[in-house]
Amino acid sequence: MKEQKNNSELAQAIEGYNTLKKDIHYASYFNMYPAELSVEKLITKGKTKIKTSEAAFKTPAEFLLWWVNAWKLQQGSCYYCNSKFSDLAKLINSNLLAVRKIGYGVRGPFPEIERLESTDEKNIYSKENCVLACYYCNNDKSYVYSSVDYKNYFGPAKGLYIKQLLTKLKT
Ligand SMILES: [Zn+2]
Repeated sequence: MKEQKNNSELAQAIEGYNTLKKDIHYASYFNMYPAELSVEKLITKGKTKIKTSEAAFKTPAEFLLWWVNAWKLQQGSCYYCNSKFSDLAKLINSNLLAVRKIGYGVRGPFPEIERLESTDEKNIYSKENCVLACYYCNNDKSYVYSSVDYKNYFGPAKGLYIKQLLTKLKT
C-alpha cells in the first residue's frame, strides 16, 4: 500500500516536471541542458536531500514536487537576485559570465537548492526551508549572510549586475 502510494506520488511528480519542461516560457532553457536538467538527475539529487528529520523531504517524489512548485512560484528565477536561469545560461553561453568547474560538471547555469535557515538545528532540506537560487548568489552568500539580509541587500545588486550584462547580449 505504502509502496503504491509512493509510486503514484512519483508518477505525479514526474508528470508535473514534464509539463513544466514543455512550458513555452521555459522549454528552451530545459532543452539547452537535457542531461543536467533531466528528471533522473533531479531524482538522484532528491535522494541526497532526504533526511530522517520530521520536517525534511521524505521521498524523491516529495523533493521533485517541491522543485517543480518552487520553479513555478519563482518563475524560473533566482530567489535572491530574481535573475532568470535562462538568462544566466544565455550569458554563460556568450562568455559574459563564467562558470565554476567542479568534479561532476559546472556550477552556474543551474538552479541550486538553497536553505534559508542554516543554523544548526534548523538546517534542513524541507519544503519550507528551501528555495531555488543561482550559483552566483548561493556561492556568494555562503554561510556569511542571513537569507533575509542577502535578499534585501546583495540579491538586488547582483540582479542589477546581471541586467547590465544582459544589455551586452546582441540578438
Ligand atoms: Zn541569484
